[in-house]
Amino acid sequence: MNTTPQPAQAQVVVIGGGIAGCSTAYHLAKQGISDVVLIEKGQLTSGSTWHAAGMVGQLRASANITRLLQYSVELYQSLEAQTGFPTGWKSTGSIRLCCTKDRRIEIERQVATARSYGVDAEFLSPQQIAELCPAMSTAGIDSGVFIPSDGNVNPSDLTQALVRGARQLGVKIIEHTTVHGITLNNHQVSGIETSSGSIDCEQVAICAGLWSREIARRAGANIPLIPSFHQYMVTEPIEGIVSDMPGIRDPDRLTYFKEEVGGLAAGGYELNPIPYDGEPSVDDPEFRLFPEMTEHFAQFMPGMVERFPQLETVGIKRWFRGLDSFTEDTHFILGELPEVRGLFCACGFNAMGIAAGGGAGMALAQWMRDGESPFDLWPVDIRRFSAYHRSDRQLGPRVLEGQGHHYVMHWPHFEFQAGRPLRRSALYDRLKKSGACFGSKSGWERANWFAQGGKPAVDRYTFGRPNWHEAVAAEHTACRERVAIFDQSSFVKLLVSGRDAEVLLQRLCAADVAVPPGTLRYAPMLNHQGGIACDLTVARLSPTDYYLVSGTAMATYDSDHSGRHIQSTENVSVVDVTSAYGVLGLMGPQSRTLLQRLAESELDRDAFPFGTVQDLMIAGAPVRVLRISFVGELGYELHVPTEYLLTVFDALHDVGVEHGLVNAGYRAIDSLRLEKQFCAWSAEIGPDDTLLEAGLGFALDLNKAGFVGRDAVYAQRSAPLKKKLATFTISGDQPLLGGETIYRDCEVAGWITSGGFAHTFNRPVGLGHVRREQGVDADYLLSGSYELDVAGTRFPAEISLRALYDPTGARMRS
Ligand SMILES: Cc1cc2nc3c(=O)[nH]c(=O)nc-3n(C[C@H](O)[C@H](O)[C@H](O)COP(=O)(O)OP(=O)(O)OC[C@H]3O[C@@H](n4cnc5c(N)ncnc54)[C@H](O)[C@@H]3O)c2cc1C
Repeated sequence: MNTTPQPAQAQVVVIGGGIAGCSTAYHLAKQGISDVVLIEKGQLTSGSTWHAAGMVGQLRASANITRLLQYSVELYQSLEAQTGFPTGWKSTGSIRLCCTKDRRIEIERQVATARSYGVDAEFLSPQQIAELCPAMSTAGIDSGVFIPSDGNVNPSDLTQALVRGARQLGVKIIEHTTVHGITLNNHQVSGIETSSGSIDCEQVAICAGLWSREIARRAGANIPLIPSFHQYMVTEPIEGIVSDMPGIRDPDRLTYFKEEVGGLAAGGYELNPIPYDGEPSVDDPEFRLFPEMTEHFAQFMPGMVERFPQLETVGIKRWFRGLDSFTEDTHFILGELPEVRGLFCACGFNAMGIAAGGGAGMALAQWMRDGESPFDLWPVDIRRFSAYHRSDRQLGPRVLEGQGHHYVMHWPHFEFQAGRPLRRSALYDRLKKSGACFGSKSGWERANWFAQGGKPAVDRYTFGRPNWHEAVAAEHTACRERVAIFDQSSFVKLLVSGRDAEVLLQRLCAADVAVPPGTLRYAPMLNHQGGIACDLTVARLSPTDYYLVSGTAMATYDSDHSGRHIQSTENVSVVDVTSAYGVLGLMGPQSRTLLQRLAESELDRDAFPFGTVQDLMIAGAPVRVLRISFVGELGYELHVPTEYLLTVFDALHDVGVEHGLVNAGYRAIDSLRLEKQFCAWSAEIGPDDTLLEAGLGFALDLNKAGFVGRDAVYAQRSAPLKKKLATFTISGDQPLLGGETIYRDCEVAGWITSGGFAHTFNRPVGLGHVRREQGVDADYLLSGSYELDVAGTRFPAEISLRALYDPTGARMRS
């Protein structure tokens, strides 16, 4: 029973005594913030943590999320020595089985990715698998990937060890106390209300598992997660099951296994998961385990028995059917909630909270200490969500689809289907009739490519050459040789206005934006380490107004980043005006001639030079025209008030016939920009990458004093760069998809961040950083001999430091 009295104030309050809360509290204290109170409404581990199976796998699609999980493993291995409390950690390794040709390719790709991220991974034959796991049948197994450093842990003991460590460093742990609300002062956390009174505090971390959303709502904020069921069974002992049996994942049968007291813990990820039909409430009881649903679990049994025939007869000791929280994109949620300063979260763990908890707590604690994520955590950053993520109706079906997707093939270019269509440009029906195959990003339907000749506008998933290859090639060629039109209405547009707009943007942008109205600048914003926080184009409209344009997913992130730097004395506002304007990208050598036929002013080079913005009349409509290219051709971005969008689009097509105008989609944008070595945020550039490393030094004005990140970039100039972006090509038609390992002189040197096909040159192309601790320069880069590992086969590669296609210095947004 809890005996620690609740203090009246603390620097930080952590809500929730599961793995996430205890790890966050432990790491806060480790980082020197020991005035921390952790509040748990039941006993520690009361929520999802105590009934987890305890499997800890490390490999994820993103390098930094893999890094977090690697950190978890290091922590779990060493925590007992640090705290004196056993965690039950066992370094058993894990094996992911593959039983089909496509799965083998998927797993070969994962192995390559693992190696490039520094995770030791080995491909095993069925015989080698049998040696490690003699009780398992290897029938139908083609091979498997063995990750020796994976393991499993006792989740309750692990959490208790973290608590022991946190207490030793001064953290107060208060159980049997419920947090009812968060008190705010001008959108800033000022305290919490609990069943035992209030605590004044500066920061709060919501680590309350599936209750996190409800707690955030009470502060007027949103954490978009949905509770859903997951279950596994534990059997009586089985002969031949050894205590160091590696964790087994058999994705082709949707199942997993681990050793548990001489028997098996066996579970699965069904395609039809069962959502929780209640409403999580702060008054819910703790220790909630639900009756097993054996009839639902029965779908796994044939596959499980194939793998472990002993399961046909062995007794079942115990069922664990519990809730965890799941998210739309299957990634967990970390960071500061954009609605409330000082309010952070670590939750939504999609049934991998034990594996992620150590690293997530470490990263969140650093984030809380420094006010900025310690490294690029975009895949899990809460600012990836937007306004529609408040809707249960929208989230529910997509979250379930994601949960069901856990073990199914992770095809390249895969698109979720649930909850679509949601956000549509005014052109949606027009584009659909023209054969658009849509993809979805941040809820927007975006045309990826256009089917021609009556062919179905459907992606057929493959690791080989995709069914849309020829269609994209035609769009790509039209853009290079004639003119193409892209619906890019999903671009985020922010209006930064007020007396101090220039002051704010000068403080945030790496480029000089104290420029005359009518000037357009590629002007990324940096973080304090000099990494690229926001990838933006900035158009100055007037002395007091700027129009910022960035990628589809960036609305919350960019608004938050800009907004949080406004000082209390400054007169400036940041308003998201995305919905006010549709965007047409008119790109290609004939774009000027075509547009001139509809424009009521001159468009020649002198009247309307590159890098400027003008408000013009086009086809009778007032249109903001940005003279910029994201594909490396002469081009215009037409920002059209939404109600005029159809009119302008139709007019362009009417006159465009004579110019060979075609509709084109995002897959063509991608192949065009790869040829131009244009970077995409969250692929080539992000918070861990500097402008110098990405070859974007032109966007940096080091003569400008005092902008965020300037000192870090300035210092970077005095030492050799540790990585540098380059273009790679291979011959043949083996697609590059991103994630392929780059070998330089037979040593791992990095990975491909974006892959695709260079249609102009008829060969696969990819961008990636060549990395070396001692530094890289042009001589080093060009003197190496390169190979790319594509699904286990190394292909000789050519490196190019410049774009394949005549560079013009223009910029790309994704
Ligand atoms: C059957 C099953 C098997 C699993 N197996 C694995 C596995 O093998 N590997 C793996 O990595 N993951 C696994 N998971 C997932 C893992 O259990 C979770 O992701 C993880 O435990 C989540 O931890 P948490 O700290 O975020 O949440 P929780 O453990 O739910 O902790 C949240 C805590 O907050 C407390 N709380 C809530 N509201 C309040 C309030 N208002 N005031 C005070 N306290 C509050 C709760 O009582 C609870 O203790 C499994 C999940 C399930 C359901």
